[in-house]
Amino acid sequence: MHSKKLLELLQEIVGKEFVTTDRFATFAYLKDASNFGGTHAAGVVRPGSTEEVALILSLANRQRIPVVIRGGGASIYGQPEGVPGHNLLLDMTRMNNVKEINPRSMTVTAQAGIIMSKLELACRREGFYIFTPFVPNHIVSLGGWMSGVAGSAGLWKDIISMTVVLADGTVVTTGGGPGTNRHQPLAYNRTLGGPDFTGLFTGDGGSFGIKTESTVRIRKYPPLVRAGIMEFATLENVLAMMERHVQRDTSFPFDALLVFGAGAMENFAVGTEDVKAFTVQRMAMGYSSDELDCRLAAFHADAQELGGTSNPALEAMAAAMEASAGTEGDPGMDWMALFNGFGRAAWLPFTLPREGFADVYHQLLAWREERRRAADERGYRCNATWEFFTVIDQSTIIGEMDVFFEETHEPGLQAYARDLMRDFQEYAHRLGSIDVYNQGFMADLNATCWSAGFKALFQTVKTSLDPNNILNPGLWTDLRKDPEG
Ligand SMILES: Cc1cc2nc3c(=O)[nH]c(=O)nc-3n(C[C@H](O)[C@H](O)[C@H](O)COP(=O)(O)OP(=O)(O)OC[C@H]3O[C@@H](n4cnc5c(N)ncnc54)[C@H](O)[C@@H]3O)c2cc1C
Repeated sequence: MHSKKLLELLQEIVGKEFVTTDRFATFAYLKDASNFGGTHAAGVVRPGSTEEVALILSLANRQRIPVVIRGGGASIYGQPEGVPGHNLLLDMTRMNNVKEINPRSMTVTAQAGIIMSKLELACRREGFYIFTPFVPNHIVSLGGWMSGVAGSAGLWKDIISMTVVLADGTVVTTGGGPGTNRHQPLAYNRTLGGPDFTGLFTGDGGSFGIKTESTVRIRKYPPLVRAGIMEFATLENVLAMMERHVQRDTSFPFDALLVFGAGAMENFAVGTEDVKAFTVQRMAMGYSSDELDCRLAAFHADAQELGGTSNPALEAMAAAMEASAGTEGDPGMDWMALFNGFGRAAWLPFTLPREGFADVYHQLLAWREERRRAADERGYRCNATWEFFTVIDQSTIIGEMDVFFEETHEPGLQAYARDLMRDFQEYAHRLGSIDVYNQGFMADLNATCWSAGFKALFQTVKTSLDPNNILNPGLWTDLRKDPEG
């Protein structure tokens, strides 16, 4: 750590047991869930309240200490590097309380270090639903998600308010409540009373401030699930299905239309010869059978008109999905258990406009197949692939075409998977993909695609909020890979 005095000051703020420079403890933060790695920290502090975060930042800012923020450590592109060996790492996961579930305003307010599955379960026990699809809910924190994947499926639209500590220790609360209007105790709408500052901090990767609390919209828990699953031979017909879907529905929540490629489906139907190129799942959640039957009837009618077919295996799969509704299991865990069984992951995600999607998708898939063959030649055996995409709003498709390699003890495999992820993203970005992940390597890559005006705006905001560049230094602003500099 920088000095004995600093350590003492931090201990005064959070208590002795929540600050450490122990090398085994700091070593643990060199790791994360990704192939890219964690942060080299000089010390780790685990604050318990907004006030403590404010005092820590005020101190760090005065002493120009780089601060790296960490939620669940589930970033797939690595943690902020900061200034290796000098970072004060703020581990937010002690701030894990649900503060209020408000059934009339239909909001939940929680500390930002809470793990999403805990938040989800707390809402569910009160009869409410928070929209958190497709993340490993058992490791992702609310703050990490708001910072690192905002723009992804759903949650960001539901974030009403954030309490954020700025680099100098100033505390702001956005969202129409007391932070915006001193006479209004409720946070209830993020665009009232001024610019959308909730949006400013959404997806910032933690560069503009530290989120300590948030109020998020909730819905009555939908107890019923109906699933329909149909197969298609061509991408064009799948995209026509998607178009019909978004023309009449707000795609999320409750009306997921999920598309799986042949490789993904083979994981479920091992040994089956006859898997078609695309399998489309409509998974509808709702409150009554009548309502859901109507939605599923529309799905089946569209699918049949567009050449979709079914078979007894798909019908059985749909029935199993329906039967799983209403249980208290953690779907995030189930997905991760499935992926862990496949081996070492090279996650290959993309986010693209629906318009022009088919052409880019075919190019990305061809690229992946070429690299898969190259991996095979080097002796890295592919256990499974996972092609998946879904609409997240009327104009946007997110998806992935991951590759899973047979795990070996050879250290080269992790590096190979990491390089595959990097190269894929560089290629996908050249084709117009700009991914939802505002974190680690991806934040740097996204920044290389910015126009001069956008870059200048980012730098203006960053410099005014964090003039000493102490928060996650290097993230976004590291443009070493930018050929235009
Ligand atoms: C196996 C796997 C599968 C995944 N699948 C999906 C998926 O399908 N869809 C999807 O959307 N995501 C997926 N993710 C990614 C994950 O949802 C995001 O990486 C998420 O941002 C991680 O949250 P975290 O709390 O772990 O954040 P961390 O990894 O700890 O941090 C992410 C970023 O947020 C910053 N940060 C964290 N907390 C705060 C805070 N309180 N205030 C300010 N900044 C903060 C950090 O500095 C860092 O820059 C997957 C991840 C893994 C490992």
